[in-house]
Amino acid sequence: MKLIEVIIEYPSSSLNRPFSYAYNGDFPILKGVRVLVPFASRIVVGYVVNIKDYPGSKEDYEQETGFKLKSIVKILDESPILNDELLLLAYKISSYYFAPLISVFQAMLPPSLKPRTSSLSKPKIAYDVYLKTIDKPIDNLTKKQKEIYYLIKEKEEVLKSEITSTVVKKLINEGYVTLVYKEKNRLKDDAYAKSIEKVLNDEQENAYNRIVNDPTGTYLLQGVTGSGKTEVYLHLTSHFIKQGKKVLVLVPEISLTYPMIKHFKERFDDIAILHSSLTDAEKYDEYRKISSGKVNIVIGARSAVFAPLDNIGLIIIDEEHSETYKQESSPYYHATYVSQLRREYHNAVLVLGSATPSLESRARAFKGVYKHLMLSKRINTSLPKAKIVDLSQYKEIDELSILYSKTLRKAISERLNKKEQVLLLLNRRGYAPYVSCRKCGCVFKCNECNLPLSYHTDGNILKCHHCGYEAKMISNCPNCNSTYIKTGGYGSQKAEDELRKLFPEAKILRLDSDIAKRRLGVKETLEIFKNEQADILLGTQMISKGHNFSKVTLSSILMSDIGLNIPSFRASERIFALLTQTIGRAGRSSEGEAIIQTYNPKHYVLRYALNQDYEGFFALEMKYRKLAYYPPFCYCALITLSSEKEDILKQNILD
Ligand code: ADP
Ligand code: ZN
Ligand code: ZN
Repeated sequence: MKLIEVIIEYPSSSLNRPFSYAYNGDFPILKGVRVLVPFASRIVVGYVVNIKDYPGSKEDYEQETGFKLKSIVKILDESPILNDELLLLAYKISSYYFAPLISVFQAMLPPSLKPRTSSLSKPKIAYDVYLKTIDKPIDNLTKKQKEIYYLIKEKEEVLKSEITSTVVKKLINEGYVTLVYKEKNRLKDDAYAKSIEKVLNDEQENAYNRIVNDPTGTYLLQGVTGSGKTEVYLHLTSHFIKQGKKVLVLVPEISLTYPMIKHFKERFDDIAILHSSLTDAEKYDEYRKISSGKVNIVIGARSAVFAPLDNIGLIIIDEEHSETYKQESSPYYHATYVSQLRREYHNAVLVLGSATPSLESRARAFKGVYKHLMLSKRINTSLPKAKIVDLSQYKEIDELSILYSKTLRKAISERLNKKEQVLLLLNRRGYAPYVSCRKCGCVFKCNECNLPLSYHTDGNILKCHHCGYEAKMISNCPNCNSTYIKTGGYGSQKAEDELRKLFPEAKILRLDSDIAKRRLGVKETLEIFKNEQADILLGTQMISKGHNFSKVTLSSILMSDIGLNIPSFRASERIFALLTQTIGRAGRSSEGEAIIQTYNPKHYVLRYALNQDYEGFFALEMKYRKLAYYPPFCYCALITLSSEKEDILKQNILD
């Protein structure tokens, strides 16, 4: 008998250990496959983590241990779904982040392969069916049948769906034509014309040479916006592929995957893509393509860090400072940490790229833990001239608008007249960030989170941006029943409305995660803007990073105070990065200008961002972090305990 150790599908810490089952069947069972097992009174999915031979029978075992042993119901996979490296990685992540092992497996795998019951109904392999002729005499066929026979023979193979004639069925039945099944990839592959490598400038060349001459450890590639980091990634990728190695490229979010995919597809073939806006079927097909060893490059967002690539030579994390690399639900992993583990395993090199590195990374480069590479100059132009506009000044605002200052309006008009493009950032989605009753003053809050609900004009709803709760917009105050309900503050929808009123003749696009949820919304919007079919792109932080719009000569942050006062020690760092990146979108091919609107014109974050002075910001922010004893001067961990009963929770904490 075999004793099979199985981790079952429930992600609970009390079940975070293997359970033993008996197996006597003939179908081979391997470590790493999924199985169906009885657990309590149900049949659940489990993941096999160990297989032992037991010399006796099931009854012997039960007698020896005093436990009742149940049997495996079904084996779901023929071969392991995670390879040895990823299995080892799962154990490390589970222990480092205190996450149940099963939840790590589930995070690593695409929906169709997750070890959980709901995955069983997800898409599996799809096939294309082709027709192929069999060589044999066809004298007995009718004229029509011969016609079809020759048609197929001539093309060697024809998609079955392309020939609708009923004759086909007869040809198949009588053995003149046979069916050929080919695995199908459901992700449509956009074709891109190939572009030629650019000759690197001195700084790029230096960065490239240092990495290829010493391809170990971690490099911080710190390059101002527009300094050509992407071109360095492309040259490095080319080098490692020539060495027979594979390359993993991580980008912070979907809106950034598209431009990166394009850059890579213009240079290389054999690329797989993994990000959240693919369908379950597409994710499954891409995943299988990677595990079968058919691709050299994987590009994707956070969870692509688990791509089953073998023989990795290079891992690139672009915009390494982005918060999206940290998963905000269990397992709470950081893609950079996971990349470090994979880098060690493969003896690969990790390149972290950013114009505004996280303080932790910059500090590690300072101490020599990371190797530091700088790109200090823009490729074609100089950095845009930036200025601050104080929104509390009466000379700046009037009855027309309190969001678009006179200075900004004038600057936008000028660009529109010159047929140049404008990029506007307001880092808050929805129409209005809060809704209140003018009579009793109450602000409507989420029942779960106790945070103000945002008003969204799409669907006329109230949304909690924290937990996703949605409700119809109310017409009466739940507190005093008054109908005097007002929305307050600005979100991207309201900013768009106002902008349309101010510039009725301009073509305006909006991009935020509400729009991004509609599939292709992001990609299409960005393409329209890039092709200069619109004048103004207004959006949330999605538009701040990575994009290279050559006709943008003005960028503006409409309210740079949003987020500055949130209670997080990283607030300043995040806003600094956001401002620097947004300013950096302007003037990529000609002179650019940036306008920062604010109620806090003296704030140090704004001052440094204005001059794109990362090093100045870093030096001062490090002093504050040191004073307050925050990372990178210490490690921080957040431990969350929850229970329905407060006293039980308290008792457990004390224990
Ligand atoms: P970053 O990612 O550092 O912000 P990009 O990679 O967007 O910068 O590069 C800015 C622009 O410069 C892009 O249009 C890119 O094609 C171009 N570029 C980069 N390197 C070179 C080079 N060596 N020669 C000519 N153009 C370059
Ligand atoms: Zn009221
Ligand atoms: Zn909520």
